[in-house]
Amino acid sequence: MKILVIEDEEAIADALIHMLIKNKYLADACYDGESGLDNALTGIYDLIILDIMLPKINGLDVLKQIRNQHINCPVILLTAKDEISDKVTGLDYGADDYITKPFAIDELLARIRSIQRRMNNNITNENIIKFS
Ligand code: CA
Repeated sequence: MKILVIEDEEAIADALIHMLIKNKYLADACYDGESGLDNALTGIYDLIILDIMLPKINGLDVLKQIRNQHINCPVILLTAKDEISDKVTGLDYGADDYITKPFAIDELLARIRSIQRRMNNNITNENIIKFS
């Protein structure tokens, strides 16, 4: 499972990458919306962790453009402030989950596992339909 972290606070991004690798994920970091979008559009990632407040292109616009380009991998939004409007907009733009900063790394890892289980269930369901 390959994860892209788009987060401009380098200390947070680097800590996330460190924890993800420690938990056997492959992970890359981008520190602004523009490079994050470029990387996301390669389509090689299984999951994207996306901060909303980003330089160059904000996270919600990154998300919108990712979905417009039919990149359908799960996206977890990081929201700095507990703002309902950002969460609603993010979910409407196609985010799968969000987590409010400051967050516990264990909670983020649990949310990643939850998304993984949903992805695996989808694959299983497709197989059942295909072979029934
Ligand atoms: Ca930020």
